[in-house]
Amino acid sequence: MSQAFYDQFAAVFAQNGLDAYISPAVAEQFEDLTARMLETNRTMNITALTTLDKIIPLHFADCITVANRLPRSATVLDVGCGGGFPILPLAIVRPDLHLTGLDSTEKKIRHVQSTADAMGLRISTVAARAEELAADPAYREQYDVVLSRAVARLNVLDELCLPFVKIGGQLIAMKGAAGAEELTEAQIGIQKLGGEAESTQEFDLQTAAGPEKRALILIRKVAPTPREFPRAFGAIKKRPL
Ligand code: SAM
Repeated sequence: MSQAFYDQFAAVFAQNGLDAYISPAVAEQFEDLTARMLETNRTMNITALTTLDKIIPLHFADCITVANRLPRSATVLDVGCGGGFPILPLAIVRPDLHLTGLDSTEKKIRHVQSTADAMGLRISTVAARAEELAADPAYREQYDVVLSRAVARLNVLDELCLPFVKIGGQLIAMKGAAGAEELTEAQIGIQKLGGEAESTQEFDLQTAAGPEKRALILIRKVAPTPREFPRAFGAIKKRPL
């Protein structure tokens, strides 16, 4: 591992209160992930961020802000994992988790699975649309926690994600500055889907360009999701619940 990478990684993680995840072994894996991501990015658009001063805070630290909220050995589904966020950073710092990545773009899923395999990270992946996969009993109401970052507004995301959460489990929506406002707009839908908004954790993500607003929206699954949900994507988007 290069000393320059370690110094930058350790500084950004410390600035963001993520000291518990700073070690040479973890930094080495993040450096490896960076190299693999940038290599894939030459032929497939998986990230617009290509320099360390952006990748470390805006991808790695941002994803790890959720790490200490996940119960030990939990089953976790990352809906719309794209190029591997948050699933790959979480697989590095929380090897106890049973992580599954879901995305509708098959080539992104191939990148995520092959990167994990090459790095010795244990994850599963599935290429499918969330609203279709949620009808499959092997996936419906099977996860302790469902995570999603940068996929849809909460009043659409709730219908894509809550059907996968076990009763008693949680949806954690990783949001930006508009998180609290999105929650207000989604409250009725969340209830119809068997969820209950539990709390919103707002904080500043420290980046090279200054602080950026973030919100983790925690929604508890308190009742089964009625069979009619999720609807087809067109209906979800056109008429959010
Ligand atoms: N979560 C990643 C991140 O934070 O970098 C990727 C975000 S990217 C902007 C949104 C991803 O969600 C895309 O890869 C897209 O294919 C996926 N996606 C959108 N709608 C989906 C659906 N209904 N089912 C599965 N994946 C979906």
